[in-house]
Amino acid sequence: RPGAAPPSAGPAVMGLDGGAGALADAVAGAVRAAGGQVFLCTPALALTRTAHGWEVRTAARTLACDAVVIAAPAWTASTLVAAAAPAAAAELCEVGYVSTAVVTMAFRRRDVAGLAALGDWSGFLVPPAAGRPGRAPVTASVKASTFMTAKWGWLAGRAPDLFVLRTSLGRYGQEESLYLDDDDLVGASLHDLRAATGLAARPVASHVTRWIGGLPRYPVGHRARVARIRGALAALPGLELCGAAYDGVGVADCVASGRDAADRIMGGLVCDGFVSKTCGST
Ligand SMILES: Cc1cc2nc3c(=O)[nH]c(=O)nc-3n(C[C@H](O)[C@H](O)[C@H](O)COP(=O)(O)OP(=O)(O)OC[C@H]3O[C@@H](n4cnc5c(N)ncnc54)[C@H](O)[C@@H]3O)c2cc1C
Repeated sequence: RPGAAPPSAGPAVMGLDGGAGALADAVAGAVRAAGGQVFLCTPALALTRTAHGWEVRTAARTLACDAVVIAAPAWTASTLVAAAAPAAAAELCEVGYVSTAVVTMAFRRRDVAGLAALGDWSGFLVPPAAGRPGRAPVTASVKASTFMTAKWGWLAGRAPDLFVLRTSLGRYGQEESLYLDDDDLVGASLHDLRAATGLAARPVASHVTRWIGGLPRYPVGHRARVARIRGALAALPGLELCGAAYDGVGVADCVASGRDAADRIMGGLVCDGFVSKTCGST
């Protein structure tokens, strides 16, 4: 297309050495280094508006806050804002989530040598319509696979003798597969991997992780819903939402969403002592 931006020269995917968990550790470290506190395993149970800001109640304490950014999933945000903004709470309640099982498997490299797909691909995606027959009684089917040691150099460096991959199972509306035994999820994964790549080896180790409500769904009308949520919260200075439920589910989207929320909060604090949220952010 004339005038279209050239494709980015950057990599198609990026990761963090040590895995995505390193991001949470880095954020917590930065908060502590700046003099902040991080309370682990301390769910916010209630949020109350006060004359000077907000109170956040947990099981152990009540925190008086100038401002609050709710970065929890939409169903938790709904509970927390219910008293102050019932219309926003009702909309937040409607944000649906998908649960996914992730099966991580390690194979000896010598057992997978010669498989072209494993040498050339970084993984594969399976469209919803492409169910694979012949696997009864197991009902789970793989919706995606990532060849982790092909994609992440740091992992290949740590385990040079292993080929590590993961499969994802559980689509919206078919989440019963998450309740299969771990062995059945591994078996379903091996069945589909064999069909897709020819892989017939047994893994030397496997691990199943179930991400219940791990990903929000964005149906038609999602943007309008998010606009209604933000509109309903606009009259409440010092309260912002961020995270995967709103403007994108990828980690980069979530980071941008958190930064935007922090900017809006800081703008409110600096400009008008929370009287107005409409002034520019710092
Ligand atoms: C299996 C899977 C694979 C994915 N792969 C990728 C990928 O390859 N690349 C990519 O970019 N994205 C990926 N994503 C998406 C991305 O990881 C998520 O969308 C993103 O991490 C969500 O970030 P978040 O901060 O919004 O929510 P979360 O990371 O879910 O954080 C919400 C936090 O709120 C906390 N919380 C909940 N209730 C309360 C409460 N009452 N009080 C206080 N805290 C509370 C939770 O403990 C949690 O720590 C994947 C997601 C899944 C499930």
